[in-house]
Amino acid sequence: MSNTCFSLALHGGAGAKRGHDYTAEIAHMRGLVEAARDRLAAGASALDVAVETVVGLEASGLYIAGKGASPNAEGQYELDASLMDGATLRAGSVAALQGFKSPILAARAVMEQTPHVMLAGQGAIDFARELGLEAVEDPATWFTHAGAFEDNHPPDTLPTGTVGCVVRDAEGRLAAATSTAGVFGKRPGRVGDSPIIGAGAWADGHAAVSCTGQGEYFIRTAVAAQIAHRVGFGGQTLEDAAGAAIQGVADLGGHGGLVSVDRDGRVAMPFASSGLKRAALLLDGSIVSAAF
Ligand code: ASP
Repeated sequence: MSNTCFSLALHGGAGAKRGHDYTAEIAHMRGLVEAARDRLAAGASALDVAVETVVGLEASGLYIAGKGASPNAEGQYELDASLMDGATLRAGSVAALQGFKSPILAARAVMEQTPHVMLAGQGAIDFARELGLEAVEDPATWFTHAGAFEDNHPPDTLPTGTVGCVVRDAEGRLAAATSTAGVFGKRPGRVGDSPIIGAGAWADGHAAVSCTGQGEYFIRTAVAAQIAHRVGFGGQTLEDAAGAAIQGVADLGGHGGLVSVDRDGRVAMPFASSGLKRAALLLDGSIVSAAF
């Protein structure tokens, strides 16, 4: 273990069931952190590493995103994803995307190949098809709805699960990426915070943030941008800023958590929830991971 000039944090969703064994998720998240560390050591950009890491989280089937997606109330799989490049303030997002394996790759293409920030519903589907992104042949057999029936949520709320990653690379650039199937059993057309730039993801020159939890509360308090603004304009430490933003969600009656990193590479991963599946590479070179 030796000091690094880069750092990152990732999550596999807020909410965790007491007594459940998260060994597989923890091992998987740590493996992704190690792979990301090697990429950053080789000079990869924060944006590339954030996207690659989220692709790995989506593909695993271990979290409620990508392969692990859970269906909405009518049995359809409507996926949301977004990303932001702090160095350029470019952003991309897709909402209610159906039929594709990696929503985060569609979000990146929106950012890089269109003049838009967000595509939703049929427009997002048509765009992903034009790009030739990898399609899901049969949603009923492809998606695994990982943990969708897990008792990981407070009474009268829907089970949650999302993945995300924030990175500070060796050149000091920040990036954030978030991907989800949203809350289990949501109404068709419901869009949560994950594809909303400033709510479920944000990156600028001050901080990068990826959120998870009851998205409505994260939208109402613009959690991700709020944290960066507290750091950038308010002069708060990342830890104080992230903690205050999550407290704001809890004060409204919501639950969730987030991972964040600031321009100096400090990491904060607060949650107001039964747990937050998470892992991070810290500046001292250590890797930390936990579910509760
Ligand atoms: N925030 C996501 C949403 O509301 C769900 C989650 O993070 O688990 O769609």
